[in-house]
Amino acid sequence: MTPQDCPKCHAELERSGELKRHCESCNSDFNIEITCHQCGDVLQRLKACGAVSFWCNNCNEQKSKSTAVYTFIEQ
Ligand SMILES: [Zn+2]
Ligand SMILES: [Zn+2]
Repeated sequence: MTPQDCPKCHAELERSGELKRHCESCNSDFNIEITCHQCGDVLQRLKACGAVSFWCNNCNEQKSKSTAVYTFIEQ
């Protein structure tokens, strides 16, 4: 996953878990929700040969990392 900026202060976020990010700058914690760009459903993570891709149960097809929508939810 590429580095992401804090939605609040735009500092670079630190990885604090598989789908968790921490911002040192404003002391916020975020959960990452990965959703389908077409239907908005939460995607399932697939791991095949080291490459990460996603599966949408609603569209019933595989989604690439580049089309997935990443949403930061403040904890
Ligand atoms: Zn921040
Ligand atoms: Zn979908």
